[in-house]
Amino acid sequence: MSPIEVLVILFGLLLGYWLLARLGGERPNTDSDPTGAQAARNRLAYEAALREATARNAASRSASGGISKALPLLIGLGAFGKFLLPVGSMLLAIGTYALIYGWPYAVGFVLLLLVHELGHYTAARRRGLPVGLPTFIPFMGAWIDLKAQPMDAETEAFVGLAGPMVGSAAAFVCYLIALSTGERMFLALAYAGFMLNLFNLIPVSPLDGGRIMAAISPRLWFVGLPMLVAVFFWQPSPIIVLIAVFAIPQIWSVFVRRKLPSPDYYRVPARVRIGYAIDYTLLVGFLLVLSIQAHDALRAVRA
Ligand SMILES: [Zn+2]
Repeated sequence: MSPIEVLVILFGLLLGYWLLARLGGERPNTDSDPTGAQAARNRLAYEAALREATARNAASRSASGGISKALPLLIGLGAFGKFLLPVGSMLLAIGTYALIYGWPYAVGFVLLLLVHELGHYTAARRRGLPVGLPTFIPFMGAWIDLKAQPMDAETEAFVGLAGPMVGSAAAFVCYLIALSTGERMFLALAYAGFMLNLFNLIPVSPLDGGRIMAAISPRLWFVGLPMLVAVFFWQPSPIIVLIAVFAIPQIWSVFVRRKLPSPDYYRVPARVRIGYAIDYTLLVGFLLVLSIQAHDALRAVRA
């Protein structure tokens, strides 16, 4: 067996474990206070936020409901409207990418984005967070609309890690197809998928990596910032500037003004912390090696 084959099997095991045992399994026990007082406080705050989000949704629905009663046609349009933005923006993204890369690759790439977002979506739903379907913007990627913020760092990390884990699984499938068929397009998709998920794992909020760090150690955001600068010099892009615009004020408020969302928010038991650190490190490691491997293989095909 070649080193790459061993790597592929190990990566497959990590992805399988995460999808089945973590995403599909029970929430880890994050109860660090034996009296349960903290858990009760968290639960109350969480339920209040959920009620608030539900009320907001109901208010926006009833605002359109008044018109719908007068014009039954609009009821159908209203139901359709829920899917209009996700589906419409997805088709727009495919069309834009197709102009540059051709249809098959454009469809594949947008599907990779979609699967990544559905990872976040599924994780948010599993934790009972109200969440909307993903919206796409060409060359900016996609995001899901969380209608209520997670109530603790572990939930934030869970929703954050689910995107790259599920997204990497999709890229991994492309890689396996490329390995068995030698199709160049699947190799290109695998490479794009590995890089996309790797980029999102840079430990700085609002990227997924920053959200995972919320449960490991928010101090690691300081590592993410120079990484973001390095990526900018490697591949200058306005997206990176935009991420920095969001990231710097957050780092400033947490560390310079010492304004944490709540003192309890970042309280995560060591066992859970280490679990996320291991999952994160393994995922980044596999993605790094396999993206370099896919990049070299693409070069070899081109030459
Ligand atoms: Zn993501």
